[in-house]
Amino acid sequence: MNAEGKPMRSLYFRLWTNESTFTQKGGGTKISHVTVNGKSASFTVHETKLKVDLPSPLPDGRMADISLRFDTRIPQIAAPFGYQSGTSSLGVWYPVLAVYDKNTGWSLPPTTSFGEPYFSETANYDVTLHLPKKLVSIAAGTETRRTTSGKEQAVTYRAGRVRDFAVAISDDLAHESRRAGNAMVNVYYRRDYANRADKALDLASKSLKYYSKIYGQYPYHELDIVDAPLVAGTEFSTLTFINLDSTPDYLFDSVVPHEVAHQWWWVQVGSNQFKNPWLDESLATYSEWLFSGDSATRFPTPVKPSVPLGSPVSAFPDDNTYQQVVYLYGAQTYRALSEKIGKKTLLKGLKNYASKYRYRISTPEDLIRTLSKTAGKNLRPFFEAHGVRLQKNHH
Ligand SMILES: [Zn+2]
Repeated sequence: MNAEGKPMRSLYFRLWTNESTFTQKGGGTKISHVTVNGKSASFTVHETKLKVDLPSPLPDGRMADISLRFDTRIPQIAAPFGYQSGTSSLGVWYPVLAVYDKNTGWSLPPTTSFGEPYFSETANYDVTLHLPKKLVSIAAGTETRRTTSGKEQAVTYRAGRVRDFAVAISDDLAHESRRAGNAMVNVYYRRDYANRADKALDLASKSLKYYSKIYGQYPYHELDIVDAPLVAGTEFSTLTFINLDSTPDYLFDSVVPHEVAHQWWWVQVGSNQFKNPWLDESLATYSEWLFSGDSATRFPTPVKPSVPLGSPVSAFPDDNTYQQVVYLYGAQTYRALSEKIGKKTLLKGLKNYASKYRYRISTPEDLIRTLSKTAGKNLRPFFEAHGVRLQKNHH
């Protein structure tokens, strides 16, 4: 729908698969045809940006049906988009409509070598995968239909109000499941790591229940943990990739509850991961501390930030500084806030924040306004003193 407040002439999609890390290894997306309301539309692709020119201007507030024909190649790389050790991990593998903001326009930041670039609105997905019968597929949402014919199978998934639609395809993943409240938690694992799978299932189902209690009920029917050869973990809606192999024990214990917490901070409450990476990462890290009784040892020593907490990804000189500030210092900031206003008030404020911005996109101003309202005091000076720069005019 056109929300520009004037007739729309063009719009943008992100092609995250065209990041250089992936194209260097033979991956990427090629667009061959675009139609808007059934009419061919011209388009241009520049790295991760796809610009579609509308055949005729779209009036304000009106909808258009856009269809894209594309071909995505999977690179051989251990990443949230890549094939390695028998598993294709497909985080964001399709063109995603860029986010439009009334004040700042289309969000089209460059990609960076660390941090996560993804940023999207929630949407409903109805996806059918056609693949050889011998392959296992795991996807966001819930499987609603499966048919086989000869050596082929067609599997349909539906996912409602999710921020992305991740898929994993493998020739050999075992799985185990456990019910956690209203949802089924599934862990898909390479058979060599069965012990780790048990532990992941335990941590994931317990943390899912815990966050449901403190932040509000997990609204989806399933949560899939998929063992994938990548650095530690990467979160997507109702599906998270976690490396069950190389992650050391102490890290594993915090990575699982961290990734599960992202189902609230990023999936349900969306945020701009390039501009405000601390919004979801600090909260996911603080959640992981809450779940483990504040005993997580992933980041043992307190840090003084060398870059302000509220900075965009591009302001950080390297991944280590980024992690130290956005994850550790960010979580420390919440710990300090808990000491200032009380843990009960902080958790109540976070629950209010989750409820108010569920399925939407939030900003630092939204978070601080909600927490201030719950605490009955203005928390802007507290956050500003911790490196979060806020807009003067808030709506
Ligand atoms: Zn995270």
